[in-house]
Amino acid sequence: MTRTPGSGCPSAYRPAGGPNVVRVTFALFGRRCLLKLGLGAVGAGLAAPSLALAQATNGADMRSVALDNLHTGESLQAVYWEQGDYIPDVLDAVNEHLRDYRTGDIHPIDPRLLDLLDGVTALTGVSAPFQVISGYRSPATNAMLRERSEEVAKKSFHMSGMAIDIRLPGVELGHLHAAALGLGRGGVGYYPESNFVHMDVGPVRAWRGA
Ligand SMILES: [Zn+2]
Repeated sequence: MTRTPGSGCPSAYRPAGGPNVVRVTFALFGRRCLLKLGLGAVGAGLAAPSLALAQATNGADMRSVALDNLHTGESLQAVYWEQGDYIPDVLDAVNEHLRDYRTGDIHPIDPRLLDLLDGVTALTGVSAPFQVISGYRSPATNAMLRERSEEVAKKSFHMSGMAIDIRLPGVELGHLHAAALGLGRGGVGYYPESNFVHMDVGPVRAWRGA
């Protein structure tokens, strides 16, 4: 993917996978870019991004991510992997989306975390955006949270961009938890009182919090 310098919009990206790919990828950049590129008609697809994502992920050579960040109010929906490769511009957008919202610090997010979420989407059959409670945490933020709660680990995988705390609208937390465990990849923390599931790409383990 290439972008027009300074505009933040893709220039003339035309993936080979068909119109659904275009629709989902451009959802990342917004209607302004669509209009700029003369693709206003594609913008109609933005009204039903989940449907578009569902269509896109039906292809075997494609993985998509859909995130709503509850702290920043930002949404991100995009194909992040296709035909064997992660898409660098989309990974950059994911890094920004999952930044430490308290400090603004951006850290590379391990793309395997997106694969975990993709696996959960496949298991639950629900392609609605995940609601993000926590992504990357800077050392300063983690230290502050540790003072508030004994449940925050000193060397949290959140600090290395390898963990995410989520819930999934339309899916009971217990089912989300079961899907995460069912993948058998990385760590899974269940926090029913706080209404989220922690997932990371560290060693396989499981725990229950509050
Ligand atoms: Zn967590």
